[in-house]
Amino acid sequence: MAKEQTAEKGITSRAEDFAAWYNDVVLKAELADYSPVRGCMVIRPRGYRIWELMQRALDDLFKETGHENAYFPLFIPQSFLAREAEHVEGFSPQLAVVTHGGGKELEEPLVVRPTSETIIYAMLSKWIQSYRDLPVLLNQWANVVRWEMRTRLFLRTTEFLWQEGHTAHATAEEAEAEARTILGVYRRFMEEWMAMPVLTGQKTDAEKFAGAVRTYSCEALMQDNRALQAGTSHFLGQNFARAFGVQFQTAQGDMDYVWSTSWGVSTRLIGGLVMTHGDDVGLVCPPRLAPLQVVVVPIWKSDTDSGSVLEAARRVEDALRAGGIRVNVDDRESMTPGAKYYYWELRGVPVRLEVGPRDVAQGQVVLARRTGGKVPVPVASVLESVKAALEEIQAELLRAARERREANSLRHVNRDQLTEYMEAGGGFAYGGFCGSPECEVEIKERTKATIRVLPDPEFRSDPPPASCAWCGKKAVTEAVWARAY
Ligand SMILES: [Zn+2]
Repeated sequence: MAKEQTAEKGITSRAEDFAAWYNDVVLKAELADYSPVRGCMVIRPRGYRIWELMQRALDDLFKETGHENAYFPLFIPQSFLAREAEHVEGFSPQLAVVTHGGGKELEEPLVVRPTSETIIYAMLSKWIQSYRDLPVLLNQWANVVRWEMRTRLFLRTTEFLWQEGHTAHATAEEAEAEARTILGVYRRFMEEWMAMPVLTGQKTDAEKFAGAVRTYSCEALMQDNRALQAGTSHFLGQNFARAFGVQFQTAQGDMDYVWSTSWGVSTRLIGGLVMTHGDDVGLVCPPRLAPLQVVVVPIWKSDTDSGSVLEAARRVEDALRAGGIRVNVDDRESMTPGAKYYYWELRGVPVRLEVGPRDVAQGQVVLARRTGGKVPVPVASVLESVKAALEEIQAELLRAARERREANSLRHVNRDQLTEYMEAGGGFAYGGFCGSPECEVEIKERTKATIRVLPDPEFRSDPPPASCAWCGKKAVTEAVWARAY
Protein backbone atom coordinates (compact mmCIF):
# COMPACT_ATOMS: atom_id res chain seq x y z
CA MET A 1 0.00 0.00 0.00
CA ALA A 2 1.38 3.37 -1.04
CA LYS A 3 2.39 5.71 1.75
CA GLU A 4 0.25 8.62 0.58
CA GLN A 5 -2.84 6.43 0.57
CA THR A 6 -2.16 5.46 4.18
CA ALA A 7 -1.74 9.08 5.12
CA GLU A 8 -4.83 10.06 3.18
CA LYS A 9 -6.92 7.58 5.17
CA GLY A 10 -5.47 8.92 8.37
CA ILE A 11 -3.66 6.00 9.98
CA THR A 12 -0.62 7.19 11.85
CA SER A 13 2.43 5.04 11.10
CA ARG A 14 3.78 2.81 13.88
CA ALA A 15 7.19 4.45 13.69
CA GLU A 16 5.71 7.91 14.08
CA ASP A 17 3.56 7.23 17.14
CA PHE A 18 2.69 3.69 18.15
CA ALA A 19 -0.06 4.68 20.59
CA ALA A 20 -1.75 6.86 17.97
CA TRP A 21 -1.38 4.07 15.40
CA TYR A 22 -3.09 1.66 17.79
CA ASN A 23 -6.04 3.97 18.37
CA ASP A 24 -6.36 4.62 14.64
CA VAL A 25 -6.49 0.91 13.86
CA VAL A 26 -9.02 0.13 16.58
CA LEU A 27 -11.29 3.01 15.54
CA LYS A 28 -10.93 2.84 11.74
CA ALA A 29 -11.11 -0.94 11.52
CA GLU A 30 -14.35 -0.47 13.50
CA LEU A 31 -13.37 -2.75 16.36
CA ALA A 32 -14.43 -0.39 19.14
CA ASP A 33 -15.36 3.19 19.89
CA TYR A 34 -15.29 5.53 22.87
CA SER A 35 -18.38 5.51 25.02
CA PRO A 36 -20.27 8.51 26.40
CA VAL A 37 -19.13 7.27 29.83
CA ARG A 38 -15.47 8.09 30.30
CA GLY A 39 -13.26 5.04 30.55
CA CYS A 40 -15.78 2.63 29.04
CA MET A 41 -15.80 1.38 25.46
CA VAL A 42 -18.30 0.26 22.91
CA ILE A 43 -17.25 -2.96 21.18
CA ARG A 44 -18.48 -2.74 17.60
CA PRO A 45 -19.62 -5.81 15.60
CA ARG A 46 -16.22 -6.40 13.96
CA GLY A 47 -14.49 -6.34 17.33
CA TYR A 48 -17.20 -8.37 19.01
CA ARG A 49 -17.01 -11.04 16.32
CA ILE A 50 -13.31 -11.51 17.14
CA TRP A 51 -14.29 -11.85 20.79
CA GLU A 52 -16.95 -14.43 19.90
CA LEU A 53 -14.39 -16.48 17.98
CA MET A 54 -11.99 -16.22 20.92
CA GLN A 55 -14.75 -17.26 23.31
CA ARG A 56 -15.70 -20.25 21.22
CA ALA A 57 -12.13 -21.56 21.04
CA LEU A 58 -11.41 -20.95 24.72
CA ASP A 59 -14.74 -22.35 25.85
CA ASP A 60 -14.05 -25.58 23.95
CA LEU A 61 -10.61 -25.81 25.56
CA PHE A 62 -12.09 -25.23 29.03
CA LYS A 63 -14.73 -27.91 28.48
CA GLU A 64 -12.11 -30.34 27.16
CA THR A 65 -10.31 -29.88 30.46
CA GLY A 66 -13.44 -30.61 32.48
CA HIS A 67 -14.84 -27.16 33.28
CA GLU A 68 -18.47 -26.10 33.31
CA ASN A 69 -19.96 -22.65 32.83
CA ALA A 70 -22.08 -20.95 35.49
CA TYR A 71 -23.19 -17.42 36.22
CA PHE A 72 -22.87 -15.43 39.43
CA PRO A 73 -24.45 -12.03 40.13
CA LEU A 74 -22.99 -8.67 39.10
CA PHE A 75 -23.55 -7.24 42.60
CA ILE A 76 -21.52 -8.37 45.59
CA PRO A 77 -22.20 -7.29 49.21
CA GLN A 78 -19.43 -4.86 50.13
CA SER A 79 -18.65 -6.78 53.31
CA PHE A 80 -17.66 -9.84 51.25
CA LEU A 81 -14.62 -8.10 49.84
CA ALA A 82 -13.37 -7.19 53.29
CA ARG A 83 -13.10 -10.84 54.33
CA GLU A 84 -9.85 -11.49 52.48
CA ALA A 85 -7.42 -8.81 53.64
CA GLU A 86 -5.05 -8.63 50.65
CA HIS A 87 -7.94 -8.91 48.24
CA VAL A 88 -9.79 -5.90 49.64
CA GLU A 89 -6.60 -3.87 49.82
CA GLY A 90 -5.79 -4.66 46.21
CA PHE A 91 -9.21 -3.89 44.80
CA SER A 92 -10.57 -1.08 47.02
CA PRO A 93 -9.16 1.80 44.94
CA GLN A 94 -10.91 0.45 41.84
CA LEU A 95 -14.37 -0.38 43.16
CA ALA A 96 -17.65 0.97 41.87
CA VAL A 97 -20.16 0.89 44.73
CA VAL A 98 -23.95 1.01 44.50
CA THR A 99 -25.47 2.79 47.49
CA HIS A 100 -29.03 3.32 46.22
CA GLY A 101 -31.55 1.01 44.61
CA GLY A 102 -35.20 1.55 43.80
CA GLY A 103 -34.98 5.09 45.09
CA LYS A 104 -33.83 4.08 48.56
CA GLU A 105 -30.50 3.93 50.28
CA LEU A 106 -29.41 0.30 50.58
CA GLU A 107 -28.84 -1.24 54.00
CA GLU A 108 -25.53 -2.57 52.77
CA PRO A 109 -23.77 -1.06 49.76
CA LEU A 110 -23.20 -3.40 46.83
CA VAL A 111 -19.96 -3.61 44.91
CA VAL A 112 -20.09 -4.05 41.14
CA ARG A 113 -17.88 -7.12 40.72
CA PRO A 114 -14.22 -6.37 40.00
CA THR A 115 -13.75 -10.19 40.02
CA SER A 116 -15.96 -12.86 41.57
CA GLU A 117 -13.89 -14.86 44.06
CA THR A 118 -15.81 -13.59 47.07
CA ILE A 119 -19.33 -14.31 45.88
CA ILE A 120 -18.29 -17.65 44.43
CA TYR A 121 -16.68 -18.82 47.70
CA ALA A 122 -19.74 -17.69 49.61
CA MET A 123 -21.74 -20.08 47.40
CA LEU A 124 -19.17 -22.88 47.47
CA SER A 125 -19.39 -22.91 51.26
CA LYS A 126 -23.03 -24.01 50.78
CA TRP A 127 -22.36 -26.54 48.04
CA ILE A 128 -19.26 -28.35 49.27
CA GLN A 129 -19.51 -30.71 52.22
CA SER A 130 -17.37 -33.71 51.39
CA TYR A 131 -14.33 -34.72 49.35
CA ARG A 132 -16.90 -36.36 47.07
CA ASP A 133 -18.08 -32.87 46.06
CA LEU A 134 -14.60 -32.02 44.78
CA PRO A 135 -13.15 -30.88 42.51
CA VAL A 136 -15.46 -28.04 41.52
CA LEU A 137 -14.37 -26.72 38.12
CA LEU A 138 -16.28 -23.56 37.17
CA ASN A 139 -15.98 -20.86 34.58
CA GLN A 140 -18.09 -17.80 33.91
CA TRP A 141 -18.22 -15.44 30.95
CA ALA A 142 -19.03 -12.01 32.33
CA ASN A 143 -18.30 -8.32 32.50
CA VAL A 144 -16.37 -6.75 35.38
CA VAL A 145 -15.78 -3.18 36.51
CA ARG A 146 -12.50 -1.74 37.80
CA TRP A 147 -12.52 2.03 38.01
CA GLU A 148 -9.55 3.15 35.93
CA MET A 149 -8.12 6.66 35.71
CA ARG A 150 -6.13 6.16 32.53
CA THR A 151 -7.84 4.03 29.93
CA ARG A 152 -7.01 2.65 26.47
CA LEU A 153 -9.48 0.89 24.19
CA PHE A 154 -9.36 -2.89 24.91
CA LEU A 155 -6.14 -2.62 26.95
CA ARG A 156 -7.49 -0.91 30.03
CA THR A 157 -11.11 0.09 30.39
CA THR A 158 -13.36 0.58 33.40
CA GLU A 159 -15.72 -2.15 32.27
CA PHE A 160 -14.45 -5.11 30.28
CA LEU A 161 -15.55 -8.59 29.22
CA TRP A 162 -13.69 -11.65 30.35
CA GLN A 163 -13.91 -15.20 31.54
CA GLU A 164 -13.07 -16.07 35.10
CA GLY A 165 -12.39 -19.65 36.10
CA HIS A 166 -12.76 -20.71 39.72
CA THR A 167 -11.89 -24.16 40.97
CA ALA A 168 -11.81 -25.91 44.34
CA HIS A 169 -9.78 -29.03 45.12
CA ALA A 170 -9.10 -31.46 47.95
CA THR A 171 -5.32 -31.01 47.89
CA ALA A 172 -2.74 -28.31 47.27
CA GLU A 173 -1.10 -30.45 44.57
CA GLU A 174 -4.34 -30.74 42.60
CA ALA A 175 -4.97 -27.00 42.78
CA GLU A 176 -1.40 -26.25 41.75
CA ALA A 177 -1.72 -28.67 38.81
CA GLU A 178 -4.96 -26.96 37.78
CA ALA A 179 -3.34 -23.51 37.80
CA ARG A 180 -0.54 -24.87 35.60
CA THR A 181 -2.97 -26.70 33.26
CA ILE A 182 -4.84 -23.48 32.61
CA LEU A 183 -1.62 -21.60 31.97
CA GLY A 184 -0.94 -24.21 29.27
CA VAL A 185 -4.45 -23.81 27.84
CA TYR A 186 -3.96 -20.06 27.65
CA ARG A 187 -0.59 -20.42 26.01
CA ARG A 188 -1.99 -22.85 23.46
CA PHE A 189 -4.85 -20.51 22.62
CA MET A 190 -2.59 -17.47 22.33
CA GLU A 191 -0.10 -19.25 20.08
CA GLU A 192 -2.39 -21.46 17.98
CA TRP A 193 -5.33 -19.09 17.54
CA MET A 194 -3.92 -15.59 18.10
CA ALA A 195 -0.49 -16.43 16.60
CA MET A 196 0.87 -14.48 19.57
CA PRO A 197 3.86 -16.17 21.22
CA VAL A 198 4.03 -15.85 25.00
CA LEU A 199 6.52 -16.31 27.78
CA THR A 200 5.12 -18.17 30.74
CA GLY A 201 6.25 -18.13 34.31
CA GLN A 202 5.52 -17.01 37.83
CA LYS A 203 4.93 -13.46 39.06
CA THR A 204 6.92 -12.03 41.95
CA ASP A 205 5.03 -11.30 45.19
CA ALA A 206 4.89 -7.62 44.25
CA GLU A 207 3.16 -8.40 40.96
CA LYS A 208 0.87 -11.26 41.96
CA PHE A 209 -2.93 -11.16 42.21
CA ALA A 210 -4.32 -9.70 45.44
CA GLY A 211 -5.12 -12.74 47.57
CA ALA A 212 -3.13 -15.35 45.64
CA VAL A 213 -0.30 -17.52 46.93
CA ARG A 214 1.20 -17.68 43.44
CA THR A 215 0.29 -16.08 40.14
CA TYR A 216 1.33 -17.52 36.80
CA SER A 217 1.23 -15.36 33.71
CA CYS A 218 1.45 -15.36 29.92
CA GLU A 219 3.42 -12.35 28.69
CA ALA A 220 3.56 -11.23 25.08
CA LEU A 221 5.83 -8.64 23.49
CA MET A 222 4.05 -6.02 21.42
CA GLN A 223 5.56 -4.32 18.35
CA ASP A 224 6.61 -1.30 20.41
CA ASN A 225 8.58 -3.68 22.65
CA ARG A 226 6.30 -3.26 25.62
CA ALA A 227 4.98 -6.36 27.32
CA LEU A 228 1.32 -7.22 27.55
CA GLN A 229 0.12 -9.41 30.42
CA ALA A 230 -2.22 -11.54 28.36
CA GLY A 231 -3.62 -13.99 30.89
CA THR A 232 -3.09 -15.03 34.49
CA SER A 233 -3.74 -18.15 36.51
CA HIS A 234 -3.62 -18.06 40.30
CA PHE A 235 -2.98 -20.70 42.92
CA LEU A 236 -4.98 -19.29 45.84
CA GLY A 237 -4.00 -21.83 48.47
CA GLN A 238 -6.64 -21.87 51.21
CA ASN A 239 -6.85 -18.07 51.52
CA PHE A 240 -10.36 -17.63 50.17
CA ALA A 241 -11.58 -20.94 51.57
CA ARG A 242 -10.65 -19.77 55.08
CA ALA A 243 -12.18 -16.33 54.55
CA PHE A 244 -15.49 -17.88 53.44
CA GLY A 245 -15.47 -21.06 55.48
CA VAL A 246 -15.34 -23.45 52.50
CA GLN A 247 -14.66 -26.67 54.43
CA PHE A 248 -15.05 -30.29 53.46
CA GLN A 249 -14.80 -33.67 55.09
CA THR A 250 -11.75 -35.54 53.82
CA ALA A 251 -11.70 -39.25 52.88
CA GLN A 252 -10.13 -39.86 56.32
CA GLY A 253 -13.00 -38.07 58.05
CA ASP A 254 -11.12 -34.89 59.04
CA MET A 255 -12.28 -31.40 58.18
CA ASP A 256 -10.12 -29.27 55.86
CA TYR A 257 -10.43 -26.11 53.80
CA VAL A 258 -10.52 -26.49 50.02
CA TRP A 259 -7.54 -25.49 47.89
CA SER A 260 -8.45 -23.22 45.03
CA THR A 261 -7.48 -21.45 41.84
CA SER A 262 -8.80 -18.62 39.72
CA TRP A 263 -7.80 -17.56 36.23
CA GLY A 264 -8.85 -15.15 33.53
CA VAL A 265 -8.39 -13.63 30.12
CA SER A 266 -10.28 -10.64 28.80
CA THR A 267 -11.12 -8.47 25.79
CA ARG A 268 -7.63 -7.07 26.37
CA LEU A 269 -6.55 -9.95 24.11
CA ILE A 270 -8.07 -8.09 21.16
CA GLY A 271 -5.66 -5.23 21.87
CA GLY A 272 -2.84 -7.77 22.00
CA LEU A 273 -3.87 -9.19 18.64
CA VAL A 274 -3.87 -5.70 17.08
CA MET A 275 -0.47 -4.79 18.51
CA THR A 276 1.13 -8.13 17.62
CA HIS A 277 0.18 -8.28 13.95
CA GLY A 278 -1.10 -4.89 12.75
CA ASP A 279 0.82 -2.85 10.18
CA ASP A 280 0.73 0.68 8.79
CA VAL A 281 -2.25 -0.19 6.59
CA GLY A 282 -4.33 -1.39 9.54
CA LEU A 283 -5.43 -4.58 11.19
CA VAL A 284 -3.88 -7.96 10.35
CA CYS A 285 -6.12 -10.67 11.73
CA PRO A 286 -4.90 -14.24 12.19
CA PRO A 287 -7.17 -16.42 9.99
CA ARG A 288 -8.52 -18.53 12.84
CA LEU A 289 -9.92 -15.42 14.55
CA ALA A 290 -10.79 -13.37 11.47
CA PRO A 291 -14.50 -12.40 11.36
CA LEU A 292 -14.19 -12.57 7.59
CA GLN A 293 -11.43 -14.84 6.29
CA VAL A 294 -11.91 -14.19 2.59
CA VAL A 295 -13.40 -11.32 0.63
CA VAL A 296 -14.18 -11.83 -3.04
CA VAL A 297 -13.89 -8.67 -5.13
CA PRO A 298 -15.48 -8.81 -8.59
CA ILE A 299 -13.86 -6.53 -11.16
CA TRP A 300 -15.65 -5.35 -14.25
CA LYS A 301 -15.12 -2.52 -16.68
CA SER A 302 -18.42 -2.65 -18.56
CA ASP A 303 -21.96 -3.79 -17.89
CA THR A 304 -21.51 -6.65 -20.36
CA ASP A 305 -18.85 -8.15 -18.06
CA SER A 306 -20.61 -7.56 -14.78
CA GLY A 307 -23.13 -10.40 -15.01
CA SER A 308 -20.65 -13.20 -15.68
CA VAL A 309 -18.06 -11.82 -13.25
CA LEU A 310 -20.55 -11.50 -10.42
CA GLU A 311 -21.88 -14.95 -11.15
CA ALA A 312 -18.36 -16.42 -10.98
CA ALA A 313 -17.70 -14.54 -7.73
CA ARG A 314 -20.88 -15.99 -6.22
CA ARG A 315 -19.92 -19.50 -7.24
CA VAL A 316 -16.55 -19.09 -5.54
CA GLU A 317 -18.28 -17.70 -2.45
CA ASP A 318 -20.66 -20.68 -2.34
CA ALA A 319 -17.84 -23.20 -2.73
CA LEU A 320 -15.83 -21.58 0.07
CA ARG A 321 -18.78 -21.19 2.41
CA ALA A 322 -19.72 -24.83 1.89
CA GLY A 323 -16.14 -25.64 2.89
CA GLY A 324 -16.53 -23.79 6.20
CA ILE A 325 -14.75 -20.57 5.22
CA ARG A 326 -16.07 -17.21 6.47
CA VAL A 327 -16.42 -15.41 3.13
CA ASN A 328 -18.33 -12.58 1.48
CA VAL A 329 -18.53 -11.07 -2.01
CA ASP A 330 -18.08 -7.31 -1.93
CA ASP A 331 -20.52 -6.38 -4.72
CA ARG A 332 -20.89 -2.72 -3.82
CA GLU A 333 -21.28 -0.80 -7.06
CA SER A 334 -20.37 2.57 -5.62
CA MET A 335 -16.75 1.60 -4.89
CA THR A 336 -13.78 0.93 -7.16
CA PRO A 337 -11.92 -2.37 -6.74
CA GLY A 338 -8.88 -0.47 -5.42
CA ALA A 339 -10.99 1.23 -2.76
CA LYS A 340 -12.38 -2.17 -1.77
CA TYR A 341 -8.88 -3.62 -1.47
CA TYR A 342 -7.90 -0.87 0.90
CA TYR A 343 -11.17 -1.15 2.84
CA TRP A 344 -10.62 -4.85 3.58
CA GLU A 345 -6.89 -4.54 4.18
CA LEU A 346 -7.58 -1.93 6.86
CA ARG A 347 -10.02 -4.39 8.45
CA GLY A 348 -7.48 -7.20 8.41
CA VAL A 349 -9.14 -9.77 6.12
CA PRO A 350 -6.42 -12.41 5.52
CA VAL A 351 -7.26 -13.35 1.91
CA ARG A 352 -8.74 -11.41 -1.00
CA LEU A 353 -9.86 -13.10 -4.19
CA GLU A 354 -10.02 -10.91 -7.29
CA VAL A 355 -12.26 -12.02 -10.14
CA GLY A 356 -12.15 -10.16 -13.48
CA PRO A 357 -13.46 -11.01 -16.99
CA ARG A 358 -10.12 -12.52 -18.01
CA ASP A 359 -10.04 -14.66 -14.88
CA VAL A 360 -13.55 -15.91 -15.62
CA ALA A 361 -12.48 -16.82 -19.17
CA GLN A 362 -9.46 -18.70 -17.82
CA GLY A 363 -11.33 -20.41 -14.98
CA GLN A 364 -9.17 -18.79 -12.29
CA VAL A 365 -9.18 -16.17 -9.52
CA VAL A 366 -6.29 -14.12 -8.16
CA LEU A 367 -5.51 -14.89 -4.52
CA ALA A 368 -3.95 -11.96 -2.62
CA ARG A 369 -2.69 -12.31 0.94
CA ARG A 370 -3.08 -9.51 3.47
CA THR A 371 0.51 -10.22 4.47
CA GLY A 372 1.74 -9.84 0.87
CA GLY A 373 1.86 -11.86 -2.36
CA LYS A 374 -0.58 -12.54 -5.17
CA VAL A 375 -1.05 -15.70 -7.26
CA PRO A 376 -3.66 -16.96 -9.75
CA VAL A 377 -5.41 -20.15 -8.61
CA PRO A 378 -7.84 -22.40 -10.54
CA VAL A 379 -11.51 -21.99 -9.58
CA ALA A 380 -11.87 -25.77 -9.59
CA SER A 381 -9.57 -26.07 -6.56
CA VAL A 382 -10.20 -22.70 -4.93
CA LEU A 383 -11.25 -24.19 -1.58
CA GLU A 384 -7.98 -26.13 -1.24
CA SER A 385 -5.94 -23.09 -2.28
CA VAL A 386 -7.72 -20.85 0.21
CA LYS A 387 -7.43 -23.33 3.06
CA ALA A 388 -3.71 -23.76 2.40
CA ALA A 389 -3.20 -19.99 2.24
CA LEU A 390 -5.07 -19.43 5.51
CA GLU A 391 -3.00 -22.07 7.27
CA GLU A 392 0.22 -20.64 5.90
CA ILE A 393 -0.72 -17.12 6.95
CA GLN A 394 -1.62 -18.36 10.43
CA ALA A 395 1.75 -20.13 10.78
CA GLU A 396 3.69 -17.27 9.23
CA LEU A 397 2.20 -14.72 11.65
CA LEU A 398 3.28 -16.80 14.64
CA ARG A 399 6.73 -17.36 13.20
CA ALA A 400 7.21 -13.65 12.44
CA ALA A 401 5.99 -12.63 15.90
CA ARG A 402 8.30 -15.14 17.58
CA GLU A 403 11.26 -13.93 15.51
CA ARG A 404 10.53 -10.34 16.43
CA ARG A 405 10.29 -11.23 20.11
CA GLU A 406 13.62 -13.06 20.03
CA ALA A 407 15.23 -10.18 18.13
CA ASN A 408 14.02 -7.92 20.94
CA SER A 409 15.20 -10.03 23.85
CA LEU A 410 18.49 -9.56 25.64
CA ARG A 411 19.95 -12.21 27.95
CA HIS A 412 22.33 -12.04 30.91
CA VAL A 413 21.86 -8.30 31.38
CA ASN A 414 23.80 -6.37 33.98
CA ARG A 415 22.72 -3.11 35.58
CA ASP A 416 24.01 -0.81 32.83
CA GLN A 417 22.67 -2.99 30.03
CA LEU A 418 19.25 -3.22 31.65
CA THR A 419 19.10 0.56 32.06
CA GLU A 420 20.32 1.29 28.54
CA TYR A 421 18.11 -1.36 26.97
CA MET A 422 14.97 0.06 28.55
CA GLU A 423 15.95 3.62 27.65
CA ALA A 424 16.56 2.56 24.06
CA GLY A 425 13.02 1.23 23.70
CA GLY A 426 13.22 -2.03 25.57
CA GLY A 427 12.12 -5.55 24.95
CA PHE A 428 12.44 -8.60 27.18
CA ALA A 429 15.56 -8.32 29.35
CA TYR A 430 16.61 -11.57 31.04
CA GLY A 431 18.87 -11.44 34.04
CA GLY A 432 19.63 -12.80 37.47
CA PHE A 433 17.53 -11.65 40.42
CA CYS A 434 18.51 -11.80 44.07
CA GLY A 435 14.86 -11.92 45.14
CA SER A 436 14.96 -8.73 47.19
CA PRO A 437 11.95 -6.40 46.94
CA GLU A 438 14.38 -3.46 47.22
CA CYS A 439 16.06 -4.36 43.93
CA GLU A 440 12.69 -4.92 42.29
CA VAL A 441 11.40 -1.50 43.37
CA GLU A 442 14.59 0.32 42.47
CA ILE A 443 14.68 -1.20 38.99
CA LYS A 444 11.08 -0.15 38.45
CA GLU A 445 11.84 3.41 39.56
CA ARG A 446 15.00 3.76 37.49
CA THR A 447 14.00 1.94 34.30
CA LYS A 448 10.16 1.85 34.40
CA ALA A 449 10.54 -1.87 33.76
CA THR A 450 8.87 -4.48 35.95
CA ILE A 451 9.52 -8.15 36.38
CA ARG A 452 7.07 -9.74 33.96
CA VAL A 453 7.79 -13.31 35.02
CA LEU A 454 10.29 -15.59 36.63
CA PRO A 455 10.41 -17.67 33.47
CA ASP A 456 9.39 -21.32 33.21
CA PRO A 457 12.30 -23.74 32.55
CA GLU A 458 11.98 -23.80 28.75
CA PHE A 459 12.48 -20.03 28.55
CA ARG A 460 15.43 -19.82 30.96
CA SER A 461 18.93 -18.91 29.87
CA ASP A 462 21.65 -21.47 29.61
CA PRO A 463 23.83 -21.11 31.61
CA PRO A 464 21.60 -19.58 34.29
CA PRO A 465 22.68 -16.11 35.47
CA ALA A 466 24.82 -16.33 38.60
CA SER A 467 24.32 -12.86 40.04
CA CYS A 468 21.56 -10.26 40.40
CA ALA A 469 21.42 -7.95 37.38
CA TRP A 470 21.00 -4.98 39.71
CA CYS A 471 22.91 -5.46 42.97
CA GLY A 472 25.37 -8.14 41.86
CA LYS A 473 24.60 -10.42 44.82
CA LYS A 474 23.94 -14.10 44.28
CA ALA A 475 20.93 -14.72 42.00
CA VAL A 476 18.20 -16.95 43.42
CA THR A 477 16.29 -17.03 40.12
CA GLU A 478 16.22 -15.63 36.63
CA ALA A 479 13.77 -12.79 35.88
CA VAL A 480 12.45 -11.17 32.72
CA TRP A 481 12.02 -7.40 32.80
CA ALA A 482 10.07 -5.21 30.39
CA ARG A 483 8.08 -2.03 30.32
CA ALA A 484 4.48 -3.13 30.27
CA TYR A 485 0.96 -2.08 29.33
ZN1 LIG B 1 19.52 -7.65 43.69
